[in-house]
Formats: sequence, structure tokens, C-alpha cells
Amino acid sequence: MHIWPVPNSYSKTLPSAGAAGSFWEERKGRHHCGIDIYAPLNSDVLAIENGRVVETGVFTSPLTLPYWNETYYIVLQNESGLFCKYAEIDGLSVNEGQRVKAGKIIGKVARVLNLEKIDNTSPEYIKSLQRKKISSMLHFELYRVWPVQFQKYLGGNSFIGQKPKNLLDPAEYLKKLF
Ligand SMILES: [Zn+2]
Repeated sequence: MHIWPVPNSYSKTLPSAGAAGSFWEERKGRHHCGIDIYAPLNSDVLAIENGRVVETGVFTSPLTLPYWNETYYIVLQNESGLFCKYAEIDGLSVNEGQRVKAGKIIGKVARVLNLEKIDNTSPEYIKSLQRKKISSMLHFELYRVWPVQFQKYLGGNSFIGQKPKNLLDPAEYLKKLF
């Protein structure tokens, strides 16, 4: 069984290549390592497949960037062998090592962006989200192996132009879910 991870998302259509929130979107000096699924604050985030929690942690923090709120991530190893990173979430309801079934609620969509703290010095893609009043989403990454070494990675973006070879485009994987 495979489940769309945010039943309450505004859309189940994935962003086209290059569009806001798409995989490897060029964000002036950084590339987006996942796909953003926009959804209302506190929407349930579900495990897509049966799997096991291999890592959890802090994903964004206002201590790092003023326009971020504190959010968390979960990495699940699926039965199929791939690793899903669910990020920009809150209310984690799983622990490392725990087995989860497809469809289990693993967390809630957090408000990752503090729109009031975004100003002219913020990156363009962040200002664009502010104009659209979008502040909550699931940031989703897909990996062939875990962990993957990044030279510089922050908040779901890689600051190195070359894509790590074990980082996958999640679009095909997500498209099969609806
Ligand atoms: Zn993202």
C-alpha cells in the first residue's frame, strides 16, 4: 500500500520542472533538494509506505535564520529500500527505530516560515512565498542510501551545484501515489 503523504494538501499536482517548490529548483546559489507540498498548518503527514524510522531531528530553526520557525524532520526507510525524508513538520509522533505502517500519522505540517521576519535581504524564493502568503508545507526528499553526505546543505537546499548521486528526484515516486 502506498499513501499520498498529505491528504489535506492544496494540490496533488506536482510543480513542473523549474517551478517554485520543484526538485532541484535553482534558487540563486542553491538548489532545492526535494519537492514542496503546500498544505494548511497542522495537516496530517502520513507515512507513504511501511517502513522504519532511521533518523529524526531539527530541520529549521530561528537560531539559524530569522525567518525560520523551529521545524523537524523524519527519515523513514521504506520496505522497498528507498529513504524518504519528511521535513518542515511539527508534532513528531514517532521515535527512531520505530516501525511504522503505511498511512500512520508521523507528524503535522508546521509553519516553517515566519512571514513577518522576511525582508528585502531574504532570498528571492522566500520573498515570493511571502507574497503568496505561503508559510506551511511538507518538504519531501528521496534517497537511495542514507545518510548522504552534502558539502553544504541547509533547510532543504544544497549550496553545491552538483547533485549528490544518491539524492533522487521524488516526482516519479510521488506521482504513483494518486
Ligand atoms: Zn522545500
